[in-house]
Amino acid sequence: MKAWWRQRTLRFRLAAWYGAGGTLLLAIFSATLYSYVAETMARPLDSELRQDLAEIRQRLAITAEGVVLWDRAGATSQARWNSENPWFELWNEQGELVRRFWPFTESRVESMPVAPEPGRDRISIFNVARDLRLRVLSVPYAVPARSETWMIRVMTVHRPMADGLGALRLIIAGALPVVVALLVLGGYALTRRWLKPLDLMVAEANRITAEDLGRRLPVVNPHDELGQLAEVFNVTLDRLEESFVALDRFVADASHELRTPLTTLRNVGEVGLRRSRTVEEYREIIGSMLEEAQRLQLLTQRLLELASTEGDAPTVEHLPVRLDELVRRCVGELGILAENKSQRFLLETPECTAQTDAVLLRQAVQNLVDNAIKYSPAGTTIQIKVREAGDHWVIEVTDEGPGIGVEHRSRLTARFFRPDSGRDRGRGGFGLGLALTKAYLRLLGGTVEYAPAPGGGSTFRLTLPRV
Ligand code: ADP
Repeated sequence: MKAWWRQRTLRFRLAAWYGAGGTLLLAIFSATLYSYVAETMARPLDSELRQDLAEIRQRLAITAEGVVLWDRAGATSQARWNSENPWFELWNEQGELVRRFWPFTESRVESMPVAPEPGRDRISIFNVARDLRLRVLSVPYAVPARSETWMIRVMTVHRPMADGLGALRLIIAGALPVVVALLVLGGYALTRRWLKPLDLMVAEANRITAEDLGRRLPVVNPHDELGQLAEVFNVTLDRLEESFVALDRFVADASHELRTPLTTLRNVGEVGLRRSRTVEEYREIIGSMLEEAQRLQLLTQRLLELASTEGDAPTVEHLPVRLDELVRRCVGELGILAENKSQRFLLETPECTAQTDAVLLRQAVQNLVDNAIKYSPAGTTIQIKVREAGDHWVIEVTDEGPGIGVEHRSRLTARFFRPDSGRDRGRGGFGLGLALTKAYLRLLGGTVEYAPAPGGGSTFRLTLPRV
């Protein structure tokens, strides 16, 4: 049953709950209403019967011989009973009818009431003729003269007012199924209408595939829960699409970039093998092949680094890091490259500590300093400045190089982007350094910006949150 229930649609289950709950409530309401009305309507009749009973007790007497006296006089059965007097029956202990006092003739009555249950005080209704219903109060009646307990049955016409109860019963019995049916149908129609956006969402979601990620779920009403669900889902789809596009671009870019060094490697080998050469020549060929292989190795390593900042983000530490020391160490490591170009460093940093990840930050600073060395001419100065700016730390690397044209600035941190790849190829770049720097800073909660330096050079600015 549970499994069957779970297999039904939400619409069906809601409508069923609606119907069942409504029916129960209606049934309770009708029953309460009915018993209240029944009680109120019958109350005057029943008190009339009790009054009659009191009068009978006063005016009736039964002798030891079993003679029935009314107002101390012998009551004859022949005489027509005065309809002003209470109507009643007397039944003896043996369950036999002793006397019946009522104003009806035998012909008026079609069926006589059945004998009362001895010893029980109760109210019942008898149909004695098609147009005559009697409301009857049966009570035990002590006959002291004979030390017996008889039954006395007081009667009155069960008036049409009480028949209203029957009508009420009928109305309830007739209306209840109709109301329940309306409730169930209405509930079904309403849930169907309300859940319609869900159908649309299911249909649209079914059409979304990896190849067709541009589709979005329809947002019928952005204010209700279904609309909000669709919106959240759409945001997730946006992100998913972005990742897919980035992945596609990455694969395309990576394979394109890998092709060049591989072709070079192959060409150098093929040219070298075309004719026999001296040992010196072979040495040179192998040397340049190794150089290309090294480049390839570096490229794959950088690609892996970049991929690792995007998939499952590496765990980023937030520990106190001395920024001045970190910058000094970077400069020290790259010092030899600068020396080769007779460049000098100008360091300007207070003693300061940031809560950050030392490894990622060092990598980022190293990329910037490395670029400054690579792209600025020999004999120039590279300035590295650490300063505080509100709730951020700023690290600026400024060089006296050629700067970057306005048209290229917006794409600087895109992967494999090199404004002048012909010029830069000789300097060993892949166009991944700034993309990586940006990815690291994103993990650290900071940013990378480019600004032209006075005098034509470049300033790369890293901004790090202090906490
Ligand atoms: P790579 O240096 O490996 O080519 P980057 O992402 O670090 O890749 O840099 C992208 C491009 O931006 C470089 O090819 C270069 O043209 C330009 N660039 C980066 N830094 C500087 C700089 N300090 N001065 C001038 N051009 C720069």
